[in-house]
Amino acid sequence: METPFPSDGLVATHPFVDLHVHVRLNGGEDYDSLEQAALVGGFSTLVLQPNTKPPIETHEVLEHHLSLSRGRRVEFLYAVSPFGELEGEGERVVGFSTDGIEYDYPRLVETMKKKKKKDVLWFDHSQCYELDGIFYEGTPLPFPKRPRSNEAIAVLRTVFTGLEYGFSRFHVQHVTTTFSLDVISFLKGIARVSCEVTPHHLFFCYEDIKNSNFKVNPPLGSSEDKRALVEAVRRGLIDVLASDHAPHPEKPQDFEKAPYGSSSIEIAFSVYYTVLGDLELVFEKMTKAPLEVLGRGGALSPDNLVFVDPKAEYVVDVKKFKSKGRNSMFDGVKLKGRVVALKLHGEWVMLDGEVLPHQERRLQG
Ligand SMILES: [Zn+2]
Repeated sequence: METPFPSDGLVATHPFVDLHVHVRLNGGEDYDSLEQAALVGGFSTLVLQPNTKPPIETHEVLEHHLSLSRGRRVEFLYAVSPFGELEGEGERVVGFSTDGIEYDYPRLVETMKKKKKKDVLWFDHSQCYELDGIFYEGTPLPFPKRPRSNEAIAVLRTVFTGLEYGFSRFHVQHVTTTFSLDVISFLKGIARVSCEVTPHHLFFCYEDIKNSNFKVNPPLGSSEDKRALVEAVRRGLIDVLASDHAPHPEKPQDFEKAPYGSSSIEIAFSVYYTVLGDLELVFEKMTKAPLEVLGRGGALSPDNLVFVDPKAEYVVDVKKFKSKGRNSMFDGVKLKGRVVALKLHGEWVMLDGEVLPHQERRLQG
């Protein structure tokens, strides 16, 4: 295949698909900056989470987002909040998501009971919010802590409640602890359950926390959790590599005041390749596996390709991010493997970290 760049040593695959991304609006990450960041990261398709301000839980807010993201080069899909008037289907709606929305057990039961549309995907940020704690037990910092088992209990609570009230398809978001892996392993035997992990939970543990950019929800686990997550990706218990790209232009240094989240869509592939060192595995879990969760096929086409250089190494510099989110715990970290070019719908859209203008004739491959 003819490429507008030297392709020796590069490897091409289906563009990446991210099941877990946040857009902010209101002066934060908007659709322009998020699209640019996604193109640099090698992504064609993103599933946006509903915890925007206001949340995506009414037809009016959903329509606002749909209108902002229509006709773009990146495909924006939506997992909408189940706690409002929306049902989990419609134009570019792929299901419900509880991500970033605080709820308790009674509200979960009431919501699952009353939703009419049950044969849709339920993306779950699994957390028992009844219990405070910004970090996990064991974290060497003097702040409120929650048990590492909190998430596992919430996973079980969601899936069992969902099954009882007629839901059948669950995707557990950003799994973090050995407890959750045990529960998911059990649940996979009795229900349609998939799960994902984030770049930061595979790379860091709570001993690594240096500043408020390391404050994420769910929090970083122990080194044992981290090892178990890597192992679970390798043996297939963890289906999908997502980014949980949660951009903030700047975070206060105060751990208690800082919002949760780390920006990572531009470097997600490199983090995963650095940790796992297996190109085929990373490709599968960033393309085929997330497409399968969405119930889509992912046939390889010469019109849609991402090229990566597995040998390249670089040091992350958040100042170079296209994202407005400068809150990355990977700033200054050396990574292996780089996304070099992206072609979408037959057009080269990104080359060497720069987004190309629409219809750039001289670079048509
Ligand atoms: Zn979440």
